[in-house]
Amino acid sequence: MGQVAEKVAIVTGGARGQGAAHARTLAANGASVVITDILDRDGAAVAAEIGDRAHFIHHDVTDEAGWHAVVQETLRRFGRIDILVNNAGIVAFNTTQDTPREQLERTFQVNVVGAFLGLQAVHGPMLSVGGGSVINIASIAGVKGAKGMVAYGVSKWGMRGLTRYAAQDYAPDHIRVNAILPGVIDTPMTRDQAPPGKLEKVMAAIPWGRMGTSQEVADLVLFLASDASQFITGAEIAIDGGATA
Ligand code: NDP
Repeated sequence: MGQVAEKVAIVTGGARGQGAAHARTLAANGASVVITDILDRDGAAVAAEIGDRAHFIHHDVTDEAGWHAVVQETLRRFGRIDILVNNAGIVAFNTTQDTPREQLERTFQVNVVGAFLGLQAVHGPMLSVGGGSVINIASIAGVKGAKGMVAYGVSKWGMRGLTRYAAQDYAPDHIRVNAILPGVIDTPMTRDQAPPGKLEKVMAAIPWGRMGTSQEVADLVLFLASDASQFITGAEIAIDGGATA
């Protein structure tokens, strides 16, 4: 038994980084988990490691028909949907002047439109089981401006707005919608993609003095996914070592 026993979750971008931690933690606490990602080998490996209560599906979150297929396959395999973690995301490091329009649009498509399509896709199945919990992984980059990451910041601001609007729309159906705002978390996105010097600069502004771990974010996902948070909806919870304090 666990905090999410007998619940069924979909975790997008679950092949690595934070998403993989969310999938492992939800499964370790009793849930069945469908992991989706565009990284097939890593995604299948995470599902295989978890075992029978996990399944990997290739899915780009911007693909609306693909969302339908993910929902149908989840229902066929596990019978219901209680939890959606909108975790898939991309980052880009350019200033307002240097950001190509295509980069702004693609970042918005993946981070905001992907989460929006997910909210729409799980609404019916969650309604049919009396409610559910959607967790949008936004960022503290959507709380305060920063130099050189306009596309990402704007998209994460958008996720905060999406969370509040959807929370209002879905509350009568007992579907909760909350946002987690991670600060700097130690993942492949952080290690591989931050421009030289950026990480050190950002780290210096963390009162706690270190990066967060994927497991620390996963523990918060577990709380928001579980019935322990059943009166929390439309909320934004920062997990950033005090960076936005
Ligand atoms: P990772 O890049 O390690 O993991 C993100 C996963 O999402 C990757 O497997 C990635 O695949 C996948 N992905 C990208 N685009 C799509 C798509 N269109 N459809 C489906 N899957 C996709 O990042 P993190 O684990 O660090 O980030 C997870 C979330 O947390 C993101 O939303 C990110 O913005 C957010 N976040 C991260 C912070 C950090 O410090 N790391 C801080 C604040 C928020 P691929 O590698 O092929 O792109």
